[in-house]
Amino acid sequence: MLAPGATIGILGGGQLARMLALAAAGLGYRIHIYAPEADSPARDVSAAFTKAAYEDERALQRFAAEVDIVTYEFENVPAVTAHFLEKLRPLRPGAEALVATQDRLVEKRFFNALGLVTAPFQPVENGGELARAVAQIGRPSILKSRRLGYDGKGQAMIREGSDIGAIYRAMGSPPCILEGVVNFVREISIVAARTEQGAFAAYEPCENTHEHHILARTVVPATLRPETAQKAKDYVHAIADALDYVGVLAVEMFVVEDYHTKEERLIINEMAPRVHNSGHWTQGGAQTSQFEQHIRAICGLPLGATARLGDIVMINLIGEAVETWAEHLADPDALLQLYGKRETRPGRKMGHVTKVVRR
Ligand code: AMP
Repeated sequence: MLAPGATIGILGGGQLARMLALAAAGLGYRIHIYAPEADSPARDVSAAFTKAAYEDERALQRFAAEVDIVTYEFENVPAVTAHFLEKLRPLRPGAEALVATQDRLVEKRFFNALGLVTAPFQPVENGGELARAVAQIGRPSILKSRRLGYDGKGQAMIREGSDIGAIYRAMGSPPCILEGVVNFVREISIVAARTEQGAFAAYEPCENTHEHHILARTVVPATLRPETAQKAKDYVHAIADALDYVGVLAVEMFVVEDYHTKEERLIINEMAPRVHNSGHWTQGGAQTSQFEQHIRAICGLPLGATARLGDIVMINLIGEAVETWAEHLADPDALLQLYGKRETRPGRKMGHVTKVVRR
């Protein structure tokens, strides 16, 4: 166990690191942020900050010497950085979780190997393979770069009549997967935590709405049958156990409904080896926030209770929407979080507001 008073190093300095730092401070830990950008929402609330590239081994070595444990706020930490740090300090979640989630093809095969259903997919390495994959999967389908894709980046829709060669070239012809389009009735996610000893705690499934590929709103409870909700949690438990996972993780799923029987099935989309935007509602909406839960899990403390405190709607304040902050402060049911970003840009996550209506 890593007792309060220790220093936790976080790779990445965005809003997730900021909220992790705030939660860690509440438990008496110090935070040291490592990020390549000087402008960091987490820097303002942390005890120490290293501005250096993820490839800078001397800076990584100094950082490791100053912290007791290392975690991260995003999954695109280079694998070499993770392996380098892992030799110096406990890295939680471990490098295995990063490797499993950095490449969509590896990730999908990992889910399938656990017996979990994903959208049909085919690997694509070149134009010829793309043509064969489109013939097999059909249209519409979605071409996704295997690496470095998030919030809809590195994705393109292949429709009837689309010039697939032009679409692939416009993406820069990277290694991709072609995925069949899932005709879902809703999207849900499960945020959960696992400790080194194998203790596991999941929050209730939440229902997510995306706009322009970016999460816009999360509602809890999700519209879901209780047996489907249990299945979703069981799947995430299986994923976390298979990775020997330590920390908070999030798994996004599609819910498809049989037209006649209304039976629900779950299709796994992707996982994030970190705290997740669809878990922001747990701040004020659950007994323990996902941020505190992550700190508890990686430090080997007992996991906190995950019970929901009311009916919840979390709305992301994206771009200019942040200007509505004063309205939310006037609402007694609303909890406002602003990320302190100095520049407002379209599509940039500036804050969020969680409305908890207690029953
Ligand atoms: P991703 O980057 O994989 O999370 O995709 C972002 C969003 O695009 C998802 O949350 C869905 O709304 C949509 N999407 C991704 N893959 C599929 C799919 N195979 N079928 C239907 N919608 C998808």
